[in-house]
Amino acid sequence: MMAFEFATAHRIRFGWGVFEESGRIASMLGNVAFLVRGKYHPDQDRLRDLLRENQVLFHEFIVDGEPTVDLVKQAVAQAIEGGCNCVIGFGGGSVIDTAKAVSAMLTNPGQLEDYLEVIGAGKTLEVPAAPCLAIPTTAGTGSEVTRNAVLGVPDVAIKVSLRSPLMLPAVALVDPALTRSVPPSITAYTGMDALTQVLEPYVSVRAHVMTDMFCREGLQRVSKALPAAFKDGADQEARKTMAWVSLLGGLALANAGLGAVHGLAAPIGGMFKAPHGAICARLLPLVVRTNLKALRSRQPENPALERYREIAGWLTQRPDGQPEDGVAWLEQMVSQFGIPGLGTYGMTRQDIPVVVERSLRASSMKGNPIPLTSDELTAILEDAL
Ligand code: NAD
Repeated sequence: MMAFEFATAHRIRFGWGVFEESGRIASMLGNVAFLVRGKYHPDQDRLRDLLRENQVLFHEFIVDGEPTVDLVKQAVAQAIEGGCNCVIGFGGGSVIDTAKAVSAMLTNPGQLEDYLEVIGAGKTLEVPAAPCLAIPTTAGTGSEVTRNAVLGVPDVAIKVSLRSPLMLPAVALVDPALTRSVPPSITAYTGMDALTQVLEPYVSVRAHVMTDMFCREGLQRVSKALPAAFKDGADQEARKTMAWVSLLGGLALANAGLGAVHGLAAPIGGMFKAPHGAICARLLPLVVRTNLKALRSRQPENPALERYREIAGWLTQRPDGQPEDGVAWLEQMVSQFGIPGLGTYGMTRQDIPVVVERSLRASSMKGNPIPLTSDELTAILEDAL
């Protein structure tokens, strides 16, 4: 068996209704919390009550949209001013990433930019982050158990990660009931991101026995649950399963990396105002098709080919499913969910060379089962417009 490393949140609490424990859990992490949340969630008042009942003071910070470096800097300044000694992220991946980045910068000295991947000064976080309680309200990113925060850098129009094992949240509290209010379009985008995050680590060059377990479990469950949650947001079983798949994706990606979908999504998300999940959804079938072709022609012995066949069987629920059937199933989801082309967000053919060039430097691209050429990446993007 190959050597591997696996790291995750210090504690994971999962289940319908566990949100009620959030005040008590927060009180174990600190007595003045920096509460990062989205613009509105039906349970936000309940969270405030739970914190008060447990004598946790809090300062609120609203995140509306995917986070940028400047937003995190503003948040850190407010958290310091408020004397906060722990951080709570209550929201989608955007909120949780902000909370994790604030936790890291509350304890580590210097400029945030210096610590960033790809564009930073190569500085690594040295001090454990302030304890963070991550409470996801979307079933998508798995950020509650990952070691990075994805931040936009508008000056250079790219999204990059702040990453360190020291950023793993102290507690991930995953209550699927919190996702009931997610509307169908966001259920589809975020759910396709969760699907991508159990698929890409399964064929990643860094996949290992432990991440494989999580990916297999997620890939076997997602194909029924995602269309069901899209169709009926009140379907409790579907919401539970999607929250589980999202958590599995986080566990897998944090330890096995991702692939070309996320490698391309990083520059696209930095250049255009497009939801991360929608970008991933649009690219996923195209990347799988391209990877299959590249593997068959350049590395026919690569074990990823057999893995794509397994994935197709799980997604289509047909044990004899072939890789192309899996691609067809993914294409059908894209069409059923009404996932728009990337042109909808303003991307044009002229932008493709820049996206390709930047994607080749993105950290996720390194996990792809086979290095794709600039021509292959260009063709994917042309089809995704
Ligand atoms: P999001 O957090 O941007 O939320 C999308 C929308 O859903 C927002 O308008 C939000 O207000 C709304 N929303 C959230 N919860 C809701 C609820 N319960 N009911 C109704 N509306 C709700 O979307 P996301 O897909 O969860 O996160 C995307 C971000 O996460 C991107 O920046 C992406 O790059 C990042 N990401 C991070 C990781 C990681 O490991 N750190 C992994 C994948 C993606």
